[in-house]
Amino acid sequence: MALRVEHDIFLVRQRGREVAAAVGLEHQDQVRLATALSEVARDLLRSVAGADVTFAVDLDARTGRQLLRVDLAPARPLPGGRYEPQSGAVARLVDMLGVTGQGGDTVVRMSRRLPAHAPALTPERLAELRAELADNAPGTALDELAAQNAQLISALDEVRSQRDELAVLNAELQETNHGVMALYNQLTEELEETNRGVVALYAELDEKSAQLRAASESKSRFLANVSHELRAPVTAIIGLARLLADSASDPLTAEQARQVGLIRSSATDLLTLVNELLDLAKAESGRLEPNWTEVDLRGVFGQLRGTLRALSNRPEVELVVEEPPAPATVRSDEVLLAQVLRNLLHNGLKFTERGEVRLRAERQDDHWSLSVSDTGVGVPPELHERIFEEFYQVPGTTRVGGTGLGLPYARRLVTLLGGTLELTSAPGRGSVFTVVLPSGGA
Ligand code: ADP
Repeated sequence: MALRVEHDIFLVRQRGREVAAAVGLEHQDQVRLATALSEVARDLLRSVAGADVTFAVDLDARTGRQLLRVDLAPARPLPGGRYEPQSGAVARLVDMLGVTGQGGDTVVRMSRRLPAHAPALTPERLAELRAELADNAPGTALDELAAQNAQLISALDEVRSQRDELAVLNAELQETNHGVMALYNQLTEELEETNRGVVALYAELDEKSAQLRAASESKSRFLANVSHELRAPVTAIIGLARLLADSASDPLTAEQARQVGLIRSSATDLLTLVNELLDLAKAESGRLEPNWTEVDLRGVFGQLRGTLRALSNRPEVELVVEEPPAPATVRSDEVLLAQVLRNLLHNGLKFTERGEVRLRAERQDDHWSLSVSDTGVGVPPELHERIFEEFYQVPGTTRVGGTGLGLPYARRLVTLLGGTLELTSAPGRGSVFTVVLPSGGA
């Protein structure tokens, strides 16, 4: 086809569309190719006074697929041998748009691959198509304009349907958003409600622990007052009993002497109980302030070795106080610490019939572990915590005497010293009471 005057642009466009349809391009692609062709034709008419247009079916070198190729051989050489479409969008309408060849053979070429499913075009079929197209007289510019209008309408139609689809999608998205917001609000509300519940619970807990503290304080005050009030009369009874039994007093009958002895030993037991109660009440009231110093464990152990030997009156039980490994210092209160260990050793001796009671110290990183082990009756696991309660004594062990206040007191003191007091034991296997103290103090 020759492209020489404005009117030819319509014809080239129309032909392009017809050829595209004939070789099997889809409707959209027909319009694309025709549009690209008319744009390029317009450019060439303006810049190089037209071109000769050739349509051909060719093979794509890369994919081996058939493609429709349009070559526009310019009427005059292209300026600089190059061609740049006026509208950048044109190149996107086809698969390839560019300049090929050199000098006088330079052509502007565009191509579009035929759909993969289209039947291959044999030379015979091409000949048929050529004949059909030759029969078709080129229409007028008006016809082409009408066709172009129809294409525009269908393109607009498509745009509108796409816009409608987008609107539907948007609406759905908005709905989803609403759903998510509703869920979020609900969750926030639930969270707030839970929070309010937790806050209320904490307030109640605070109140309960304040009540508990108050109750515990009044118990300690009561114990302290009662034991304090009892100490004077009990001491007086012991004194009076001693006076009665004194050889300088009037002689007593044997029965009277026995009864006075009973009064004295009962009063002494009572005094022990009163003193222990006072100690415990004091430790619990928080009025007991440890006297912190660098305590030498060797000294404490040596003292215990001496004082407790007198208590171990059974030859079948050996009291072993090991020598602590050097350097054996711990920041603590010497008197309170000795009191705790004495208490534990005393218990060990009380509840062991044969074997040994052993005190040993072990240093582990930043703390000391002081253990009192015995080969005595042991304590059933379910009572391991109970024996630290006030007045609790394991049934069957009461005959050896005691008040049931020693262990709770010992644990309070160890807590005051910044440590812990734990027990491992099983009936018949003996017991190990372990005091763990930070070596640097509380
Ligand atoms: P007390 O020794 O005055 O009864 P404690 O508070 O020291 O009071 O001890 C409470 C109870 O724990 C004891 O009555 C005894 O039943 C048990 N217990 C304490 N130490 C030992 C031990 N080393 N072996 C076995 N039982 C023990």
